[in-house]
Amino acid sequence: MKIFLSGGTIYSFDDSQRSISKGCLGIDDEQILFISAEKPKDFTADRIVNCKECLILPGFVNCHTHLAENLFKGLMDEVDFEGLFYSTLFRWESQLDPEMVYWGSLVGALDALRCGVTTVADMYHYASSTAKAVSEAGLRAYIGQKVLGFSLKSPPYQTGHGVNYNFNFLDFSKQLESAVTFALKWRGVSNGLITTSIAPHAINTLNREMFTEVADQVRENGLGVHLHLAQMASEKEEIKVREGMECVEFLEDVGLLQGPVLGAHAIFLKEKEIERIYQYKVSISHNPVVNAKDAALVAPVSEMREKGVKVGLGTDAFQMNMLETARFATLINRIKTGKPDYLPAYEALAMATIDGAKALGMDEKIGSLEEGKKADIVVFDLSRLNTQPIVDPIKDLLYYGDAGNIKLVIVNGEIVFEEGKFTKVDELHVRKEFLRMIERLKSKLV
Ligand SMILES: [Zn+2]
Repeated sequence: MKIFLSGGTIYSFDDSQRSISKGCLGIDDEQILFISAEKPKDFTADRIVNCKECLILPGFVNCHTHLAENLFKGLMDEVDFEGLFYSTLFRWESQLDPEMVYWGSLVGALDALRCGVTTVADMYHYASSTAKAVSEAGLRAYIGQKVLGFSLKSPPYQTGHGVNYNFNFLDFSKQLESAVTFALKWRGVSNGLITTSIAPHAINTLNREMFTEVADQVRENGLGVHLHLAQMASEKEEIKVREGMECVEFLEDVGLLQGPVLGAHAIFLKEKEIERIYQYKVSISHNPVVNAKDAALVAPVSEMREKGVKVGLGTDAFQMNMLETARFATLINRIKTGKPDYLPAYEALAMATIDGAKALGMDEKIGSLEEGKKADIVVFDLSRLNTQPIVDPIKDLLYYGDAGNIKLVIVNGEIVFEEGKFTKVDELHVRKEFLRMIERLKSKLV
């Protein structure tokens, strides 16, 4: 299908940092065909969208999600996250099945599109269900199936001397085999919308022997890694006690830093660890909203960015609002640095788009608006009251915009969300099935 976006302000977020007011953007099938001041005479569109007073941006890249964790939404607010994590969450997750994960993921995928997110990096159980759900919603995704060092049926538990992780190599091996099978089977599926990774859960929830095995599989199959990195104080302390090392030092020691690695959170990284992740080209997902919600510390974002580490943004579980995340990243890092001009609006939105694509190793295809790249696009209508008057569209959006400004979302050249409606799935049906799953899950959690 040929789509013509007419008359909007286009910010490309490519190396040249182009912007065109009252510009023209043409899409042919999956790709961006042209971005220009005038429409090429030989281009005839099947669909013309009037983008007057609109801002046209690359779709947001959400670098860290657990789409299906929507199934537990509302059960983990205003709690001691670290406490709940070991005592309860894994026990809850043991009650999940592929059907629940499918509907939970579909709700997450639709919420992503509603918020202008066109790519997510997800890790969860039953990843095939998530891959199926995102494909049906029309969302691009980098998906890994979660691998743990224990069975969900026998999860870790708190003791008087800390956490007993209940490690079991046989259970781990089955999970790893299943995760590799998923990654190889779904890689490039659904018109290339799906790419895959291996997702060992966190530094402390697998042991040395297991991480060494993961590193072997990653090398053998040419896969990227997505894991939680230095997210919690207990994680960092555990590795110190168990291995006498910092988190990054441990990953280096087990050979996991050789291939593409995406680490989520990176709250507790020390200076020498930042140096090491830069050397190994490890990417980081900064997830400031969820970290603040859990009363965690602010990740060393300015230090990582200054060093040259690729830092994208993520929302983690339960919500997909990347615009809020970009705004919050700016605000909280201004408090931390004490600089009122730290992380300007353009750079915050770059973190939500092209920097995220770089963090996932997908910037050849997505993250900026350029001829030949995949047409993953979000159009914001700035004519609404909250973004009037238009003074500087990028600043207007970052400081005053919200998801209500989203007019249109395009993924892989296809309109998937327009004027509040999803084009590929029936929202009411999804809601009904999702609530049915919630009831089923609730009956198992008591
Ligand atoms: Zn997470």
